Amino acid sequence: MAELKLSESRDLTRIERIGAHSHIRGLGLDSSLEARDVSEGMVGQTQARKAAGVILQMIKDGKIAGRAILLAGQPGTGKTAIAMGMAKSLGLETPFAMLSGSELFSLEMSKTEALMQAFRKSIGVRIKEETEVIEGEVVEIQIDRPAVSGAASKTGKLTLKTTDMETVYDLGAKMIEALGKEKVQSGDVIAIDKASGKITKLGRSFSRSRDYDAMGPQTKFVQCPDGELQKRKEVVHCVTLHEIDVINSRTQGFLALFTGDTGEIRAEVREQIDTKVAEWREEGKAEIVPGVLFIDEVHMLDIECFSFLNRALENEMAPILVVATNRGITTIRGTNYKSPHGIPIDLLDRLLIITTQPYSADEIRKILDIRCQEEDVEMSEDAKQLLTKIGHETSLRYAIHLITASALNCQKRKGKVVEVQDITRVYSLFLDVRRSTQYLMEYQKEYMFNEASMVDGGED
Ligand code: ATP
Repeated sequence: MAELKLSESRDLTRIERIGAHSHIRGLGLDSSLEARDVSEGMVGQTQARKAAGVILQMIKDGKIAGRAILLAGQPGTGKTAIAMGMAKSLGLETPFAMLSGSELFSLEMSKTEALMQAFRKSIGVRIKEETEVIEGEVVEIQIDRPAVSGAASKTGKLTLKTTDMETVYDLGAKMIEALGKEKVQSGDVIAIDKASGKITKLGRSFSRSRDYDAMGPQTKFVQCPDGELQKRKEVVHCVTLHEIDVINSRTQGFLALFTGDTGEIRAEVREQIDTKVAEWREEGKAEIVPGVLFIDEVHMLDIECFSFLNRALENEMAPILVVATNRGITTIRGTNYKSPHGIPIDLLDRLLIITTQPYSADEIRKILDIRCQEEDVEMSEDAKQLLTKIGHETSLRYAIHLITASALNCQKRKGKVVEVQDITRVYSLFLDVRRSTQYLMEYQKEYMFNEASMVDGGED
């Protein structure tokens, strides 16, 4: 039975889900930051992609902090796609955090705390740690009194415990010779280059392992047969400030990193961490890596959040903030004032604005081609033409949605290639926004709470 299960599990293939932006693999720019027409899953929108590329370069250089970019444009013009492209082009080391404006209102914490966490998720800390890589045979010598062995006669106070006594005696003597009796203490870690005989004191170590502890204080010799004394390797860890916060938050503990249940983190914890990180930076042990925080549907934020953003961007550790909206002039949430994109003017003034343009039929066609490939759907030329026409007249999103639906219809009639008939079938099954609105207008009386009729003077 167990064997059967094993072979069953081997046969399983990984199922990767296809998301709305899974075809986007980067911004599709060449080395001079010009947008290639079709590249890395990206089509058209060249100006916006180029502008995003310039920002990306600034992020990669790590020189700027606290800049903010607004991607503004009609629905379905690729704002999120461009942000995803930026995320993909950044290396794994650069943190990228993403949230939608509306998420802030549904978390179990205050809006500003959620924003603060998002900010700190997009600030990386590159911590450098020097570790010793000791090569060669390791010989341990325990210092003890009174001296009893051969080496002790030379040193007057060493008892050496090791399997290879000859080497140890030799090394023990050299050690005393090189460093002087008074400089040699129990617990010293010393490297001896076997080739040149040069001795270097590396530091002191009492408890490298349990065995060491059990043996008591000791001196450790390190022979490096290749002539190199000892190598120091630099290990670099990249963590986000948020991860450091969570690990150090006594109420949460590091497990919260996995559950995501981090709750609110106290301001004192953050202050302590900021001080510590600043110390590390001064000592050259750590660097700040400003990442990217992407907030989609930014018009969903309210005036408190906007003023938080204004302030947070002034911090020298601030990430690059990329926000996106498809709104025109609208009310700023939490106020009675109207403003472009529903964003207060003072914040708007800080933003570099990148606009996205509606797609031409040709661009829609290319995006649909890419999506067909991504969704593994074979479609006839005629069907593609029709779908492009639909996309142009309705919306790109609607046309993208019809790909899988028409493929299912094709499967049902046992076809291999999606044909015009499949497209027309799903087009009649699923309404686009315009037809749905028309339908509502026609049948509004049959619906509950139909405000259109109230505005028109109520039902009669
Ligand atoms: P909204 O304002 O409604 O949030 P948006 O501008 O963020 O819309 P996206 O979600 O980015 O629009 O685009 C809709 C769909 O079209 C997505 O699946 C996206 O990946 C795809 N898409 C948009 N623009 C491009 C492009 N230039 N190249 C390739 N795919 C694109």
